[in-house]
Amino acid sequence: MSIESIDNIKFQTAIGLEVHMELLTETKMYCSCKNTFGERENAVICPVCAGYPGILPSMNKRAVELAVRAGLALNCKINRSFKMSRKNYFYPDLPKAYQISQFFAPICTNGFLEIKGKKYPISDIHLEEDAGKLYENGVDFNRSGIPLIELVTEPCFHSAAEAMVFLKELRLITMYLGVSDCRIEQGSMRCDVNVSVNRIGEPCGERCELKNVSGFSNVYDGILYEEIRQKTLISEGCRVLRETRRWDPEKKESVLLRSKENTADYRYFDDPDFPEIILTEEFVQDIFSKLPMLPNKKRSYYASLGVSIQAAEDIILDPQKDSIFCDCIRMDICGAKTLSGLINGIAAEFLNEAPNYLNEINKEGFCLALCKIGRLREKGAVSSTSAKLLFESHIKGGGDIDLLLKELKLEQISDSEYIEKLAERVLAENRKSVEDYRRGKTNALAFLVGQCMRLSDGKADPSLCKEAVLKRIVYENI
Ligand SMILES: [Zn+2]
Repeated sequence: MSIESIDNIKFQTAIGLEVHMELLTETKMYCSCKNTFGERENAVICPVCAGYPGILPSMNKRAVELAVRAGLALNCKINRSFKMSRKNYFYPDLPKAYQISQFFAPICTNGFLEIKGKKYPISDIHLEEDAGKLYENGVDFNRSGIPLIELVTEPCFHSAAEAMVFLKELRLITMYLGVSDCRIEQGSMRCDVNVSVNRIGEPCGERCELKNVSGFSNVYDGILYEEIRQKTLISEGCRVLRETRRWDPEKKESVLLRSKENTADYRYFDDPDFPEIILTEEFVQDIFSKLPMLPNKKRSYYASLGVSIQAAEDIILDPQKDSIFCDCIRMDICGAKTLSGLINGIAAEFLNEAPNYLNEINKEGFCLALCKIGRLREKGAVSSTSAKLLFESHIKGGGDIDLLLKELKLEQISDSEYIEKLAERVLAENRKSVEDYRRGKTNALAFLVGQCMRLSDGKADPSLCKEAVLKRIVYENI
């Protein structure tokens, strides 16, 4: 076969994801050790999770609940009876030499995640336990036995960007469900990425698996690298071999780990330590009835309240902001659109500086203050500058917003005589900007209005100032 240039060949890519998410349980999957992160090596282990011979694991009910929760939210069939399987392999971080997982009958099957009208099929979600971790002095078993769900998609993505949109939406849904905190930096969401490339019109190519990639940008870079590597091989007339590869984030390349094992290599069999687990209808229905509102539904609900698409997205992408928004809406003091502006503006600015400020005790007061400021804004009683000052003094010293407004004398000034005088003074002091405006530099107007606001300590009504400035410029011309 002759060597062709990649650019002259039309390829297509198929990408499938296997996403591991650590579950937000109190304890580990099969023992009562705490499910925690950041402890001293081997401080949180017992004979069960350290894999001593003769131990008997017992299933964490909460982990099952969370897996069902994820399955219901992702439109899966929940299998009312399921089994645990042993996945056999040898590695130093797995002292039992098998992982308790699911193979023959996973807990959730045949689901999908819909994004912007497109359904991405999910083959299954199964329960499994995490393995330990190698470190410079040996093996740390703290992570061993931490409950996970592994979500497996069909090879339904055709580009790195598409896979990325899916992962971000999945992460958001899982966080809203309370199933996982998906802390990528702590490894609580990790991905195996299967990539295969073929020429259009030819059968699907052999897939390569990038193992254990953490972080969205690494998944993205890894897929792009694999696409180019496989396209180059094909265009040079070589075969792509089925392999498991490791993504090196430093060198930004994938490295061969091993030729890909088949499922037969894992010698799966039903784990005799577990009976068949039966989920009652009542158990599943109870979880279903408690599902929270998910991002897609929130998007349309917030739009129906008059919030812009972008403002709604900014709120939904940050569960803390979203929770403030929901609490404020329930107070029913001012409109949702005004609230979205305040939450994405002054509240977000403050919480960026003090991310741990909000707690159950002060949240209600925080939300009430935002709502009252929103109502003042809607009535035109305060400018945006004064709204910010009111909010800041409430945070600093507490106090009711309506009282603070009077105390700090922050009411917006709409007095026409006062505003006329402001405009007159600003025009006299800024002749160059007036000329600029006349020559077509429209942003000079914003500067002049800004000067009125500055002279009034932010209290003048900006729309009245704008009107007065414009009127004067036209009048001077006559
Ligand atoms: Zn344990």
